Amino acid sequence: MKSLNFDVHFKDLFDNTSDLIHFLDIDSKILKVNPAWLNNLQFSAEEVIGKSIYEFIDPKSHEIYKNYRSSVIATNKLEDISFELRTKDGQKILAEGQIGCVYDVQEPVYTRGVFKNITSKRVAELNLEKNQRRLNTFLKSAPSAVVIIDQNQTVLEWNPKAEEIFGFKTEDVLNRPLGDIIIPPQFREAHAMGMAHFLKTGEGPVLNRTIEIEALHQKGHVFPVNLSISNVKVDDDWLFIAFISDITEHKLLQQEIIRQQAALMQSKILDEKKDEFLSMASHELKTPLTSLKAYIQLLEKSVVSGNALPVQFLGKASHYIRRLENLIADLLDVSKIKADKMIYNFEEFSFSELLSECVESVQHATESHRIEIEESAEVNCFGDKMRIEQVIHNILTNAVKYSPDADLVILKSKIIENRLLVSITDFGIGIDNKNLNNLFKRFYRVENSDMKFQGLGIGLFISSEILDRHQGEIWVESEPGQGSTFFFSLPVRGN
Ligand code: ADP
Repeated sequence: MKSLNFDVHFKDLFDNTSDLIHFLDIDSKILKVNPAWLNNLQFSAEEVIGKSIYEFIDPKSHEIYKNYRSSVIATNKLEDISFELRTKDGQKILAEGQIGCVYDVQEPVYTRGVFKNITSKRVAELNLEKNQRRLNTFLKSAPSAVVIIDQNQTVLEWNPKAEEIFGFKTEDVLNRPLGDIIIPPQFREAHAMGMAHFLKTGEGPVLNRTIEIEALHQKGHVFPVNLSISNVKVDDDWLFIAFISDITEHKLLQQEIIRQQAALMQSKILDEKKDEFLSMASHELKTPLTSLKAYIQLLEKSVVSGNALPVQFLGKASHYIRRLENLIADLLDVSKIKADKMIYNFEEFSFSELLSECVESVQHATESHRIEIEESAEVNCFGDKMRIEQVIHNILTNAVKYSPDADLVILKSKIIENRLLVSITDFGIGIDNKNLNNLFKRFYRVENSDMKFQGLGIGLFISSEILDRHQGEIWVESEPGQGSTFFFSLPVRGN
């Protein structure tokens, strides 16, 4: 083995190290510098040897260098120093290292400085700091919550807006798994599965788009948020950056708008219905009035001419007056029902008698149909006789009106389980199933495309109200094109 020649090896070290080395005499004059020193500062040896070191140190660092060197000479204690050197073309070099002092007996002879050029390391550090500051400013002022997690779902960043939206302080959530914090329990499994699927396949259907989901607040309630997640690869690991905004108010506003639109629609529909009703009511009132007017004119003429008017003309006139009376009475009844001011006069009466009277009066005004009582229960009822008559009259006249091609209406009344059950059957147009539930509502009329029937859609409404006040019930069974049977039931007086 070759023996180590220190002189040779130290020279090799001195010449080839990347560290900057200089030797200074006690007056700070340069005795020697190594090639790395010259290279870094871009001077030749001739330009520096014998010069004061301060010619190569940035003026801002003179003080610090001087103090440090004096202290080392006085105490021989070594500590790190950073200061700035200047290259030939004026560039600054940040040097970090130590100065040592060599003594002869106790007299200081020269100092030795060994430094590293840490300029680029420092620049990188400064850039990193700058980037961190920028990131912090962005996170602080971002209008959305920004949450950054790693691929193990560990929370790495949690900005002030996230604190505000979710109620969790940054220190409470950092380094905790996101799943335990803001994801409602019922979605946690799906979230974990989605993450595992992404790491395996690279597919992430929720990534890089905005979705609307529910999030969990620190206080335990769930609220709606808009979420968009971006993924970035840093070294070999994925990071996920989530931008989240609370849309509770937006949702409430949306619901309010929908509610207002619905209310607007409803009032529009109501308005339309009112208009429709007004035009129907005017038409219904006008028709008998026109006929009545014609008969009055005939009467006038016959009085003027001295010719007697046939008696049936007067009968017709009074028929139209009755019709007008009935229409107006029905309209008044609707107002009374609405204001809860309908007055009932309860008394005991024979139902079979009432039924016969009613059939007789309707039959009297009807030539096209035969109204037949097939079965009649001899029973007494306790109620408002006129109002019950009104119910039978309504159903009977409907039976005739809505069966223009038939000629028979059948009535039955019987006692079943201590209640009177009445049925009125026609063989007319019938009613589609979908309309059956609405028939007893105010102003409801079935749209008949092929036939137009006069009416206001209030007769059945009034009838059902009347029966309701008598602890009665009304319902219908019907087959379109075959006919309908209207039923009503009433409690009976114990006979
Ligand atoms: P309207 O004056 O329109 O006849 P109602 O309240 O008496 O008013 O009846 C409501 C609706 O029920 C009618 O418009 C009609 O469409 C339907 N209706 C009532 N009775 C019958 C029936 N016997 N046959 C077919 N449809 C009927």
